[in-house]
Amino acid sequence: MNTSNTNNRPSRGKSSMTRRGPSGSSRFSSNTPSNRGRFQSGPTSRNGGGSHGGSRNSGGSRGGSRGGSRGGGRKMPSFDPSKFINTNPVEIKQDIYESKHTFADFGFSQRLVDIVASKGLETPSPIQDQIIPEILNGNDVIGLAETGTGKTAAFLLPLIEKTSKDVSRQTLILTPTRELAIQIEEELRGLAKGFNIYSVTCVGGMNIHPQLKALRRINQFIIGTPGRVLDLINRRSIKPENLRTVVLDEADRMLDMGFINDMKKILSATPKDRETLFFSATMSTETKKLVGEFLNNPVTVSVKKKDVTDSIKQDVVRSEHGKKFETLTNLLKGKEFTRVIVFGSMKHSVEKLSQQLTASGFKSESIHGNKSHSQRQRSLQKFKKGESQVLVATDVAARGIHVDEVSHVINYDLPQTFEDYVHRIGRTGRGTKRGMALTFISK
Ligand code: AMP
Repeated sequence: MNTSNTNNRPSRGKSSMTRRGPSGSSRFSSNTPSNRGRFQSGPTSRNGGGSHGGSRNSGGSRGGSRGGSRGGGRKMPSFDPSKFINTNPVEIKQDIYESKHTFADFGFSQRLVDIVASKGLETPSPIQDQIIPEILNGNDVIGLAETGTGKTAAFLLPLIEKTSKDVSRQTLILTPTRELAIQIEEELRGLAKGFNIYSVTCVGGMNIHPQLKALRRINQFIIGTPGRVLDLINRRSIKPENLRTVVLDEADRMLDMGFINDMKKILSATPKDRETLFFSATMSTETKKLVGEFLNNPVTVSVKKKDVTDSIKQDVVRSEHGKKFETLTNLLKGKEFTRVIVFGSMKHSVEKLSQQLTASGFKSESIHGNKSHSQRQRSLQKFKKGESQVLVATDVAARGIHVDEVSHVINYDLPQTFEDYVHRIGRTGRGTKRGMALTFISK
């Protein structure tokens, strides 16, 4: 049944608190009695003014240098290989964050408090601790936070609370990718279980008709990607004038992906007195402009992590021409290569590589743009559950996916930009686990 992304009535869905590692531990699992109530986080600041434009690039210029182009305008990356080497990663000292609240004292209904507890969430994460009261108060917010900080629950919980008190409230959540939209809806279904709250996911690349049908019913939450949402607004299936809250999740990525005009059109069509919740890992000039135009006196909460690249062991793998695949399989035989994401540049080469790996006896899955949405989800689930050792992916397909305890990221093909490199290698070394990134370069 593929209606799960169109008309997910919370009551129907299975409860799912996703993005946990194979051990079942969550990323914030500081749940031992000794450290209960404390979270490890990077520096936090409140009302920080949103100046964290920070390139996370410790190794040099933004975007890497771009060399010549090959056919179809595709840019060939060229990098200084030393940018991929960090054999002496620094031990990042995590600050211990003392949460000011417990989930019981935000003023949530007892039902919501119980649901949160049943999900095993004991203590609010730093972003939750600071931003939930602001959202409950009806303030516009800027949350500078990456994935893995608990930002999704940080906006979902207060919105569920407010919606449960007034079911006529409608919220639109915009995300850069369909995968992220679906993950958010899964989390919503888990957290809103038993409330009379309905949701619909409206993402591109999928048949619009089930979405049109689901939108005929009342949905308190609409989660979608900007292009499809705008299309549905133009068809009057989504009525923007009814939206009371708009959440922009991973706003910087939406801008990177060229959604700026769609985002502006959507926001302009919604009521001026809406609440706008803006989440972004970085603040670029463009991001700030959007904030200036569409947010009303926002409160900023920043929980940006420290430079991830410094803490990840990185090295290059020099492979002779014609020996690249053999070099890869030799690496994958290493017992520490337990959960490996291999990045390739093209959809077809990613698929081929995954098939070659399977043929060579490695349990491998692939995700890329030539796969249907459900095929991608299936591959991702197998990898997440540990049923396959390797996930071969393109950059775009890998966006917005969260997999814990990735032991290695292998850049089989070079990323296009240094930012892509940082994004790729950030898939390992998440939480307290230290991973390793290896980048293939030719001998
Ligand atoms: P996000 O930043 O929204 O991608 O959240 C990442 C993961 O953190 C999700 O798997 C959540 O289940 C988990 N999480 C969210 N809030 C908490 C919390 N307060 N304590 C423990 N885990 C949490």
